Amino acid sequence: MKMKEFKTESKKLMDLMINSIYTNKEIFLREIISNASDAIDKLHYASLTDSKIKVNKDDFKIDVSIDKQNRTLTISDNGIGMSKDELENNLGTIAKSGSEDFKNNNEHKKDIDIIGQFGVGFYSAFMVASKVTVISKAYGSDEAYSWVSEGVNGYVVDKHEKNTYGTDIILTIKDGEDYDEFLDTYKIQELIRKYSDYITVPINMDLEHRHLKEKKNENDKDEYETVVENQTINSLIPLWKRNKSKISDEDYDTFYSDKFFDYEKPLTHIHTAAEGNVSYNSLLYIPSHAPYDFYTKDYEKGLQLYSNGVLIMEKCAELLPDYFSFVRGIVDSPDLSLNISRETLQQDKVLKTIAKSLESKIKKELEIMRDERREDYEKFITAFGSQLKYGIYANYGMDKDKLMDLIMFYSSNDNKYTTLKEYVSRKKDDQKNIYYAPGENINRIENSPKVSSLKDKYEILYCTEHIDEFALKVINEYDGLKLVNVNSEITKEETKDEVKKVNEEFNDMFSLMKESVPDLSEVKFTDDLKEHPVCLSSSGEISLEMEKALKDIPNSQHIKASKVLEINNNHKIAEKLKELFKTDKDKLKDYTKVLYALSRLMEGLDIENPTEISSLVCEYLDK
Ligand code: ADP
Repeated sequence: MKMKEFKTESKKLMDLMINSIYTNKEIFLREIISNASDAIDKLHYASLTDSKIKVNKDDFKIDVSIDKQNRTLTISDNGIGMSKDELENNLGTIAKSGSEDFKNNNEHKKDIDIIGQFGVGFYSAFMVASKVTVISKAYGSDEAYSWVSEGVNGYVVDKHEKNTYGTDIILTIKDGEDYDEFLDTYKIQELIRKYSDYITVPINMDLEHRHLKEKKNENDKDEYETVVENQTINSLIPLWKRNKSKISDEDYDTFYSDKFFDYEKPLTHIHTAAEGNVSYNSLLYIPSHAPYDFYTKDYEKGLQLYSNGVLIMEKCAELLPDYFSFVRGIVDSPDLSLNISRETLQQDKVLKTIAKSLESKIKKELEIMRDERREDYEKFITAFGSQLKYGIYANYGMDKDKLMDLIMFYSSNDNKYTTLKEYVSRKKDDQKNIYYAPGENINRIENSPKVSSLKDKYEILYCTEHIDEFALKVINEYDGLKLVNVNSEITKEETKDEVKKVNEEFNDMFSLMKESVPDLSEVKFTDDLKEHPVCLSSSGEISLEMEKALKDIPNSQHIKASKVLEINNNHKIAEKLKELFKTDKDKLKDYTKVLYALSRLMEGLDIENPTEISSLVCEYLDK
């Protein structure tokens, strides 16, 4: 028989497959099974319009079998089959769309990824097989043919015996330990479940079971026997395509843990079937805890994407906005093509439409949880609240309106989580601001000078995470109330005239104090403090907490808060300073250094000159 050559593109693709360094070789099975399923669909469809075709829908099936001795894996279907010409044309050239994409991307080695993304189909068999034999008989034909290829050199088509219509794909699995798993029943079973679970025709396989033999006498020893049973591996109808009313919460939860390997129950699921311009089924889950890598750059967001029950992408990132990246789940749409690529995904209109509608469904579900299942919602906030806050801060605050009613803060009101809306509902009549206080932990915030003086008067939001403050800055104003950091200067409006007067009077003293601590942009008296002698606050856009947060980001060390040393006007230290200004200016400078160091400590900031400060303190302790 004459060996025929592959067309140029096919040759290139084939070469890529054979020498593939692609790690996800296992997808070959998905491709072959998906072709088999298509061939069955084609025959079924033809039978609907052609009365000469007599097939029974219930007879359709795909058989998978393993011959370990001969190292073969065979996938057989009773679909439409291929004629001699079809074998040559369909398997001698790669699909048009695939080849186009392939050509455009073949320039870079890293584009080896196309194998996973484009669904290159039949040729992926060469990733695991040293020889591929296709035996096919077209429906209605008397003759069957074989197509055999061992790689780039070409293929041979010949007459072959085959009684029934349909196609057998026989893969001779490559030698080597790496490939042995493709001859393992359990591995193949696992791959069918993973990638082809919801193919709508049964995928059958012989499975061995060990049974306890029935005992003849009660005292007989336990004896086992191995029985081979032909079983359907796939579950045929996916949960997400079933009628909601027939699915129990337990079904949903079990499916979640099986599918996403999370053994903690999810907080909620969202199951939808949409029809119209774009049809799709989706089943989404909101987990009850963050995966260990969630807040790292290793975490990959995305939903599993299916087209008519065939998995086309494990994590389709385009379906979820970053702020909802915690959502896990599945989308299945018949309107998507199997050969979708990363590049075209981003412009895909169908996908965009689905993403938009999913986003509003997720938001609505979160609102329901917030209003009706408070305990669960607080659990959700603990796990993913920061992600929503990042969402507010990201994209220059573009999404803040969507998200600001979903976030929560720990509050001085009963030490509980609160939404901004709830805060406003409790505000005092004359209250013009929503107050918040950033800090390392609740305890520290609660005992900080400003908070301990202010919390009896106003409710204060405790911001223990860096992102809290960044998000609040972006929100800026909520329901007509300004968001104000209690440690910032903005509370100035509330300074009493009396204190304002003293501050003016001692302006020269403040200048002298600033001279001794150049880091300070301002020194002043305050009556906001109850018992604490001093506190450190900031003026301007950058707060002390932000300075701390920014310190951890490379190349931003130069960003610092404008620091204000506030001195309690009702504390005896105030009198002492005023006195020193008259009697001993050098001592006043030393005092300023020490007070500044103390105020930094209370804010959780380092002292930059610890040796100087400790000798100063010892000097005065000694007196
Ligand atoms: P695609 O499935 O994307 O078109 P493939 O390379 O996987 O590309 O397959 C090429 C063609 O070979 C298919 O379009 C189909 O016409 C034919 N083919 C592959 N497998 C079978 C099969 N089991 N039965 C009938 N035809 C098949």
